[in-house]
Amino acid sequence: MGLDTLAAAGWLNDFAAGIHENADLLTDLDREIGDADHGSNMDRGMRAVANLDPSGFPAAADYLKKAGMTLVSTVGGASGPLYGTFFLRVGTAWVNVCDAPSLGLALRAGLEGILQRGKASLGDKTLVDALSPALDAYDAHAGEGVSAALAAAAQACAAGRDATIPLVARKGRASYLGERSAGHQDPGATSMTLLIEAASRTLS
Ligand code: ADP
Ligand code: MG
Repeated sequence: MGLDTLAAAGWLNDFAAGIHENADLLTDLDREIGDADHGSNMDRGMRAVANLDPSGFPAAADYLKKAGMTLVSTVGGASGPLYGTFFLRVGTAWVNVCDAPSLGLALRAGLEGILQRGKASLGDKTLVDALSPALDAYDAHAGEGVSAALAAAAQACAAGRDATIPLVARKGRASYLGERSAGHQDPGATSMTLLIEAASRTLS
């Protein structure tokens, strides 16, 4: 028995609400080092995900995969395929989610998908700099249960997000700015923190 479709939908609907509330912030951050569309991109995609009817997906894995495909098809730019791949991979691994370690494996499958797709390394000033330390913290606390692990993950994700500020971007549009990308918080790391904070609120 794993976390069911309603649990997964609760997570993604909470994320959709967080994206909507923070859409202007995300777009403003992307204006500084990108093309001012991260908030509107993610809001469009997550609205479409929030409009999925969970009752049409008896298996949570299928709901999560549909969410991923929805993001790929509705969000332009780098973030659509990256978040889309994340949820496709999380969905694929979700089948066996029944305890803290297996949820950690599903989330890590999502990170692996992002790394394969975007080819970013730690320190490149991307959403990987938030998600990767979040999952390390999750693993370190998995023995204490899902709530403690997700709380630790959310905290580490926010710290990773903040730590993108001094970095020079080496991937994505921000990398075109070179040294001038330093001193700005990465938009994708900011939205990623909303995702892990939503998980901590809803999946605990
Ligand atoms: P675009 O840059 O195409 O306009 P968005 O503005 O929606 O797309 O998303 C920008 C965010 O995507 C960045 O802040 C960064 O976190 C993330 N990103 C960009 N390229 C990569 C990559 N190769 N790997 C991981 N994340 C990336
Ligand atoms: Mg952009």
